[in-house]
Amino acid sequence: MLAARAAELGVEVRRGAEVTAFEQDADGVTVTQADGRRLRAGWLAGADGGRSTVRKLAGFAFPGTDPEITGHQAMVELTGGEKLARGWQATPTGVHVNGPMAGRVLTVQFDGPPADRDAPVTAAELTAALRRVTGEEVTVTAVHSATRFTDNARLAEDHRRGRVLLAGDAAHVHSPFGGQGLNLGLGDAANLGWKLAAVVRGTEPEGLLDSYTAERRPIAAQVLEWTRAQVALMRPRPYERALRSVVADLLGSPAGSTYIARQLSGVLQRTGPAEGHPLVGGQAPELRFADGTRLADHFHRSGAVLLRLAPDAPRADGYGQRVRTVTADCPDRPGLAALLIRPDGFVAWAVDRDAAPADGLPAALAAWFGSPGAPPRPAAG
Ligand SMILES: Cc1cc2nc3c(=O)[nH]c(=O)nc-3n(C[C@H](O)[C@H](O)[C@H](O)COP(=O)(O)OP(=O)(O)OC[C@H]3O[C@@H](n4cnc5c(N)ncnc54)[C@H](O)[C@@H]3O)c2cc1C
Repeated sequence: MLAARAAELGVEVRRGAEVTAFEQDADGVTVTQADGRRLRAGWLAGADGGRSTVRKLAGFAFPGTDPEITGHQAMVELTGGEKLARGWQATPTGVHVNGPMAGRVLTVQFDGPPADRDAPVTAAELTAALRRVTGEEVTVTAVHSATRFTDNARLAEDHRRGRVLLAGDAAHVHSPFGGQGLNLGLGDAANLGWKLAAVVRGTEPEGLLDSYTAERRPIAAQVLEWTRAQVALMRPRPYERALRSVVADLLGSPAGSTYIARQLSGVLQRTGPAEGHPLVGGQAPELRFADGTRLADHFHRSGAVLLRLAPDAPRADGYGQRVRTVTADCPDRPGLAALLIRPDGFVAWAVDRDAAPADGLPAALAAWFGSPGAPPRPAAG
């Protein structure tokens, strides 16, 4: 779907093009590919994974904690599989998972990182891991796909160096527990995408890009902390098992499970502290309108949205498609008068019907979307 959408927008995706070097200067970046071809661009966004070439070449600091576990996830054929219990199992030697689909196995061992992280994962290695953690005489007879992972947890000190930016695993790596890595990367892309577009189009100064690190790095730091906590709770020692049962009890309470679900789902993520209105800085709430549409339906096109729910709500004249106005009736939130929602779904400004006359909108518009009027011509490159 993403590839089709990119093609629809006229984006060319070059597959198999490996970046091996680049140089940046005041006006742009010259990138060299493995086949020797060079291309010139205004900006370079390194979304090239945890071992990011772009991050290393640009010299981003990548501090964090070293790996202490060895994990395997694989789709296999095996004999003795009927001896393995379904679902997540904690044993005296680690953790293993069987399922949900036939042939999917996962193991976690807690006695150090893999000796060679780059060696291909073999059936023998998977067999040894499964036998060690489960204590069962199972044998992997065929490997359809396999990954080896650790709890290496690192976060780039900055997400921008001049004209080079990092996104996704290139900017942060952590153990996969909790399944948060992909969404974290998509959040980076959503945050960076519209800001980079505004800078390239010339509607906003380069400084807007500094808000990318400021907003996304604390969110990534928190995900890293949670994954570290999850690894700690999975350790097979009696102390951690005791702590795990305390946490499991807390999870059994409505307050505990709500807190964990809200954290893991990302709905508590904020771009900063609330300023003035409690919705500002958070993700726009799910709103249903009297005409049957939802707020999300109005975000299928690019640009920010000024949502006007009261007849006297202020306007965003002169911003054209950069800030589209949606006028709606929202019976679920009768007190809300207007919201300014950024293209990534975060609330930049909000006002209630019973509030004093709204005067913050022009400042919020100027801060995030530049001056009203026709945007200048795009910068070359
Ligand atoms: C076992 C395991 C289970 C996981 N489970 C989950 C889960 O349930 N939920 C979840 O959200 N996340 C999960 N993750 C994490 C998730 O897979 C990653 O966070 C996500 O894939 C990162 O996406 P990315 O695009 O940043 O990097 P990648 O997916 O690593 O993509 C990087 C891309 O860059 C390309 N590339 C690399 N170097 C270069 C170069 N020099 N030039 C050009 N291209 C280059 C690569 O070929 C690749 O296509 C899991 C990870 C593991 C290991």
